Amino acid sequence: MTNKQFAIVGGGIGGLTLGIALQRKGFNVTIFEAAPTLKPLGAGLTLAGNAVKALIEIGIADQVLQTGKVLEALLIKDEKGNILTQTNAEALSRKFGIINSFSIHRGDLQAILLRELTPGTLITGKRLLDFNQTSSGITLSFEDGTSVSTDYLIACDGIHSPVRKKLIPQAKTRYSGYTCWRAVIDELPSSINASETSETWGKGSRFDIVPLAHNKLYWFACVNAAQNDPALRSYKIPDLLTYFGNYHRPVSDILKKTQSEQLIWSDIIDLKPIKKFAFGKIVLAGDAAHATTPNMGQGACMAIEDAVVLTNCIEEYSTAEEAFQKFEEKRITRTTKIVNDSWVIGKVAQLENSLLMALRNTAIRLTPPSVSEKQVKFLVDVSLS
Ligand SMILES: Cc1cc2nc3c(=O)[nH]c(=O)nc-3n(C[C@H](O)[C@H](O)[C@H](O)COP(=O)(O)OP(=O)(O)OC[C@H]3O[C@@H](n4cnc5c(N)ncnc54)[C@H](O)[C@@H]3O)c2cc1C
Repeated sequence: MTNKQFAIVGGGIGGLTLGIALQRKGFNVTIFEAAPTLKPLGAGLTLAGNAVKALIEIGIADQVLQTGKVLEALLIKDEKGNILTQTNAEALSRKFGIINSFSIHRGDLQAILLRELTPGTLITGKRLLDFNQTSSGITLSFEDGTSVSTDYLIACDGIHSPVRKKLIPQAKTRYSGYTCWRAVIDELPSSINASETSETWGKGSRFDIVPLAHNKLYWFACVNAAQNDPALRSYKIPDLLTYFGNYHRPVSDILKKTQSEQLIWSDIIDLKPIKKFAFGKIVLAGDAAHATTPNMGQGACMAIEDAVVLTNCIEEYSTAEEAFQKFEEKRITRTTKIVNDSWVIGKVAQLENSLLMALRNTAIRLTPPSVSEKQVKFLVDVSLS
């Protein structure tokens, strides 16, 4: 299929990684991105061993790992700061032979991916409005009035994917019941252990602290709320200081070091798992296929896995239609499980009934380390072939 043209719609983490993976196997790729330019926006990300495994296979793991920060421990605390559980990520990395948890600024990851693409691959300012699939190929129509013919279309156009909406109009995004603020600050408070990431579970709210490279820190905070609440949308740092006033230090120190203009706000939504990714010459990947809540830190990881599995399928099978079908078969069970598990973890983390919270906290304290080890094993055991 090296004589065929693959169009990827969407230049997010999924589309860019897939573009690199396909190019490195000799396929012709063009990425069409709606944004006029790709700015290094966003906050932080944690990537797990499954993403590292996929990045190694593509050949870009060193660049990504050098720019990120390896995290040695993951802690869950109650709002007073008592540790409910602690996962020794370093020991798990040694056990599974792969770095298991690292953080990176989204903008830094994007910059690496852009550098690794062949110049000219990404065309920005191209918002796809419609497409038409025939027996000979696909025509893509863009908002700027232009159209392009391609052999195959890979939709990496995110959770609100216009491609998916046309192919599966009945697919639905779901509001999780909690809204989220996040930011990156340039200075790690001295009370924070730079090699640990922690998540504090309060009453219907939580606060995550993720150290980044170069002494930066990424945090995100979730609170139970009605969807699209205009009051919460306009929250500033003083509002968050009040909301998280009963949380242990250094939560207030981190908020005080954040400017209100740095806040990124969004309601947390996912895509109710769909049963089909492949549609003839078109396939869905990344968030377009299986957007998840951020509770397991797996959305971008799965998009990176997709890039490798899809490229390997395209290399192995003689037609893209067959390759896309095999990709769907290989990916749907795993991605559905992660989306559903993450949904449940979010419900547990966001509990607001005091009795249920106390039961949950006791259960977490009593959970043996073998449980988190099992989850890590499931993630790193991903089959990429
Ligand atoms: C608060 C939060 C925290 C998260 N933390 C983590 C984490 O720690 N670890 C992790 O692995 N994941 C995390 N995720 C998930 C992760 O951000 C996503 O899963 C990942 O970015 C998906 O990548 P994607 O390329 O599939 O989609 P996107 O990043 O959404 O990219 C889609 C691209 O398509 C473009 N596009 C859309 N429509 C069109 C169109 N019509 N024409 C052309 N282009 C179009 C968009 O402009 C965009 O660039 C988090 C998500 C949230 C909300």
